Amino acid sequence: MSNGRWNLNMLQDLFLPWEVEAIMTIPIARNVGEDKWAWNWTNHGGFTVKSAYYQAMEAKKTQATSTSKSVGGSIWKRLWHSSLPTKIKNFGWRVLHNGIAVKANLLYRGMGEDRRCPVCGEGDETIKHALTLCRDARSIWRLSPLRMEIQEMEDENVSQWCEKLAATIVQESWWEIFWNLLWGIWLRRNAWIFKRKQVSVKDLIDKAMRFTIEYQAAKESVKDGLRSEGPGKKKWHRPREGSLKLNTDAAVLAGGMIGFGGVVRDSMGEVRLACCGRMDGRFAPDIAEAMAIREVLAIAGAAGFREIILENDCLKLISQLKKHVLENSSFGNIVKDILDYVQAFNVVSFNHICRSGNTVAHNLA
Ligand SMILES: [Zn+2]
Repeated sequence: MSNGRWNLNMLQDLFLPWEVEAIMTIPIARNVGEDKWAWNWTNHGGFTVKSAYYQAMEAKKTQATSTSKSVGGSIWKRLWHSSLPTKIKNFGWRVLHNGIAVKANLLYRGMGEDRRCPVCGEGDETIKHALTLCRDARSIWRLSPLRMEIQEMEDENVSQWCEKLAATIVQESWWEIFWNLLWGIWLRRNAWIFKRKQVSVKDLIDKAMRFTIEYQAAKESVKDGLRSEGPGKKKWHRPREGSLKLNTDAAVLAGGMIGFGGVVRDSMGEVRLACCGRMDGRFAPDIAEAMAIREVLAIAGAAGFREIILENDCLKLISQLKKHVLENSSFGNIVKDILDYVQAFNVVSFNHICRSGNTVAHNLA
């Protein structure tokens, strides 16, 4: 968009012909600020996300349930009902229907000159290549909490790949992380092509994680606003200005694994870090909680945080950490590890929270 006009070339590169036609009919105001990465969130992003969530809820009310067709019908249904912004759901629909304006699709429609991937230059840019096989896309999938190795399967298209993953990614939060990563890979590709802006693989993963949680947290706070705070129903509270709060949670999963999740938020309620993962082993819930804290504290320390309020719903753990009690047990050993990790921080305080206030971390674990 320049001088109050749409940049037709860029639109044609990004969208399909009928979409371009629809966009061209949107009048542009003269006083619009600089174009921003739509997925980006600023220091005041919390509000943006919240409004996006409201918008999604409105869209849900007005739009007929779903256009579920034969292709990826059940995935589309799940995607539509997930906590993702409408624009990511729309993007998802286009992914499932081969409707993304990658070079190969543009060439097929008589636009563009070559099919070569503009990011790596190593193959034809099909949807499958751009979102999974391209060098950096592979790294993103491998390094993300989903820890996926992309296998080159000749006969499988992206829609089938998504279908397969939908069956294995049971947990809603992880399903949302998956779509945020997919969307992030597409935005990263566009930022490179149109702005020569290089987004690092690590930044993209961090951003996708934070965005997933920020959106979920916005959803929770909207729900909280509608819900009266009954007995035993406590909300999460923001830390005071200048402080950061880390919420963690663990889940004992089937198949001898535990899941952990952690979220660092500031006094504005903005997500500064979000992480999740899986660990092998069969452990009692309190040990799993302690292992989750140990894991997430290490990540928060590596991210450079030095002052933190650590909040968790395991009363035993929090009280032992507060009093530096070291039981002679495997639980006690992990408490000791945590207290050792704490040394790397300037200030760490511990706070017990009831389950209902810990939902955001809980959803990740
Ligand atoms: Zn490539």
